[in-house]
Amino acid sequence: MSHATSGMPARVVLDWRHGTIGELAPCVLCGRPALNRSPVKDVPCHKGCAETWITTHARDSAHRARLIRRYTPGRGEPR
Ligand SMILES: [Zn+2]
Repeated sequence: MSHATSGMPARVVLDWRHGTIGELAPCVLCGRPALNRSPVKDVPCHKGCAETWITTHARDSAHRARLIRRYTPGRGEPR
C-alpha cells in the first residue's frame, strides 16, 4: 500500500473480472451505451465511469477504500 500525494486523488481501479456483459444499455453514470454490468448492482455501467465516480466522490483514502470495496464483488469466491 503506497501513500498517494495528498491533494491529488489517486486513480481508482476496480476489479470487475466477475462482472457480466449484457446488451447495450445506457450507462447509469454517463448515459452512453454500455455493455458492462456493475457486478454489484447489476445495472449498465462503464467500469471507467464507476472508477471516476469513486475518485470524485471519495472524501479521503479511507472513504475511497470503502467505496472500492462496496463496488467490487466478493473476492476469492469460487464461481
Ligand atoms: Zn458510462
